[in-house]
Amino acid sequence: CGIVGVLGKHEVAPILVEALKRLEYRGYDSAGIATVNDGVLDRRRAVGKLVNLSDLLVHEPLTGKTGIGHTRWATHGAPTVANAHPHQSGSVAVVHNGIIENYRELRAELAECGVNFQTDTDSETVALLTERYRRAGETPVEAAFHAIDRLKGAFALAFLFEGEEDLIIAARKGSPLAIGHGDGEMFVGSDAIALAPLTDKVTYLEEGDRAVVTRAGVRIFDESSTPVSRPMKTIQVDR
Ligand code: GLU
Repeated sequence: CGIVGVLGKHEVAPILVEALKRLEYRGYDSAGIATVNDGVLDRRRAVGKLVNLSDLLVHEPLTGKTGIGHTRWATHGAPTVANAHPHQSGSVAVVHNGIIENYRELRAELAECGVNFQTDTDSETVALLTERYRRAGETPVEAAFHAIDRLKGAFALAFLFEGEEDLIIAARKGSPLAIGHGDGEMFVGSDAIALAPLTDKVTYLEEGDRAVVTRAGVRIFDESSTPVSRPMKTIQVDR
């Protein structure tokens, strides 16, 4: 299970798949990516090995220079395409590693608002909540932070938004997540190994942190959404 994100200069689909390959050692049962291109958010998902996702992308390419990717280790819901991440609700796509412990309560709340569920996962609730807050008029950052505030459990998360080609929001609690610094590019990864071919400059999020990532850099906030500063480290990993 792993997460990657790229705010790049080039087409990101192959870069995302390559970064996910570097996370294969963690194990997974399905994989997917989402990109935003000309404002349009779209995704591709496949069960099984990453080669299945690569094959799908040959037939149904995904363009765009901004994207997120995921390898799933199913905990809630069978390993099917529908349950594979990214989960999309309207204008938001989300990838999640970990377990949302209060997903039943969140689903019940969303069901009362007439929301239709497309998956059996705990993770989908994050996309549904964020989209609901967007529709209530909140900005992408406000909506994502608001959704994160509602979550109990363990998570690494990355959010991508329709119409936002220079924004990835990331958060961690219980699961590791690193922000990679490039030259006019920025990255998100479960670990520095995933990002090694892309950059050796990494900022590790601390417990409860949320990150607003753009090509210009990253702004990090703690659990109470207070801005914090986290060190950037130059790491040595095998490229
Ligand atoms: N709990 C989520 C699911 O089953 C995420 C699993 C993971 O960490 O990959 O979809």
